[in-house]
Amino acid sequence: MKARSLVFLLAILLLFVAGCNKSAPVIGISSGWPDGRIIVSDAYVYSVRAAGGVPVVLPPVLTEEEAREVLSHLDGLVLTGGEDVDPARYGETALNETVEVNYKRDTSDFLLASEALRRDMPILGICRGEQLLNVALGGTLYQDLPSQLNSDDAICHRQTESKELGTHIIYLEPESSLRRIMGVDSLMVNSFHHQAVKYPGTGVKVTASTADGITEAWECGNLICVQFHPEMMIKGGNNALLPIFEDLVARSR
Ligand code: MN
Repeated sequence: MKARSLVFLLAILLLFVAGCNKSAPVIGISSGWPDGRIIVSDAYVYSVRAAGGVPVVLPPVLTEEEAREVLSHLDGLVLTGGEDVDPARYGETALNETVEVNYKRDTSDFLLASEALRRDMPILGICRGEQLLNVALGGTLYQDLPSQLNSDDAICHRQTESKELGTHIIYLEPESSLRRIMGVDSLMVNSFHHQAVKYPGTGVKVTASTADGITEAWECGNLICVQFHPEMMIKGGNNALLPIFEDLVARSR
């Protein structure tokens, strides 16, 4: 009787362990694509892993079929930071020489974004990824904050401090996923952007802003998007923003 109970308990334990392994979601991480190289910051890989997901760096895709094929292996997606989105994607021409576009990467990222949206895949958009998803949903961007915002006491959105340090405050909307995930009304975040969401796309709900009115986070269905870089803070040893990655992993289970 005792031996049978032990076998039973062992079987339950094995099933539990197998279940745990099986349920670790596979999270795709979009890559940059300059000069024939495929690159991405290891901070995204580190953060997905720290949040309990299996990180997979994605290849660039050139067709809808390639996007479908790649995303069929994933449970969730991180659209990462990088170059500026081509202003033509939202019906504008480049404002000035600060706008830096990588057309090949735009092609790949918009294909991945469209397919992920079609699948209602859980997505975390960060910086460029956040801006690109807003454009994919029909929104527009500020192309260059320093030249488009005429404020004497404008908040610095391009910090020179170390990457893991929060340098400006953002205020979270009370009825938002980000407020629920973080459990606080305001956050100190890092800031490395000269563009930002201008007009929100269809269904986009702004969930955090700075005092100067710049959108720092938004949500829409299965998308959580942030203008700041939680992955840099996490890699730098500051786990205050790890819940944002844990939420993606939880949504991807
Ligand atoms: Mn900022």
